[in-house]
Amino acid sequence: MTTADYPEAPGPRAIPETDFIDTAPGRPFTLAGTESGFSQLHGISVAPLGEENDRLVALGHLTDRVALAATSGYHRRVLGERIMPTSELTDMIRFGTQRTHVQAVKAKPDDDYAWYLDDADPSNTTAQAVTLISIEWLEREDLAAPSACPSCTWLSRSVRFTTSPDHTEWAFYHRCRYCAHMWLPTAPAPHHTQPALSQPSTPELEMPSCTRSA
Ligand SMILES: [Zn+2]
Repeated sequence: MTTADYPEAPGPRAIPETDFIDTAPGRPFTLAGTESGFSQLHGISVAPLGEENDRLVALGHLTDRVALAATSGYHRRVLGERIMPTSELTDMIRFGTQRTHVQAVKAKPDDDYAWYLDDADPSNTTAQAVTLISIEWLEREDLAAPSACPSCTWLSRSVRFTTSPDHTEWAFYHRCRYCAHMWLPTAPAPHHTQPALSQPSTPELEMPSCTRSA
């Protein structure tokens, strides 16, 4: 596995016009980091993957330190969350960060997402170096005000961008750690500079599960 460092990832000024637009559906293309879903965080292009946003893809092979910064930045700026310094964070770097190569493919018009990623051989000329970061198990704290569970009054300080209990709607929800009740925050988070901008609030922004296993 390649362990090239961050300079492989394009910086914000080095990003070329994306060829996503000119690519036919179902055809491979090169991610520029400006396609739907991507956010620019400290010059790193980061997008969520999977219906539950349980992984992030960052362009380039990031060092541990940069992967951590990108993950933290994504949570703060896009999700309005702070990552708690628990053992899950250590595990994310040790076991949950994968430096690999993928091929981006433009989705078909009737797909629920704009693009997806396939596994790719590094020798493929259009394969791209990416870092996949599993964020599913991270402990997070919302930057919004704590709220008491309507069911059991347990105080929740975190919200997650997830589907509603009946799985019909995406939104930020409190989820009670005591009784698992879910409810909507009463006040908007004060630091949501980009509220849910890259989240699958519309079908076209929804990302599929990434790399299919070969
Ligand atoms: Zn509760």
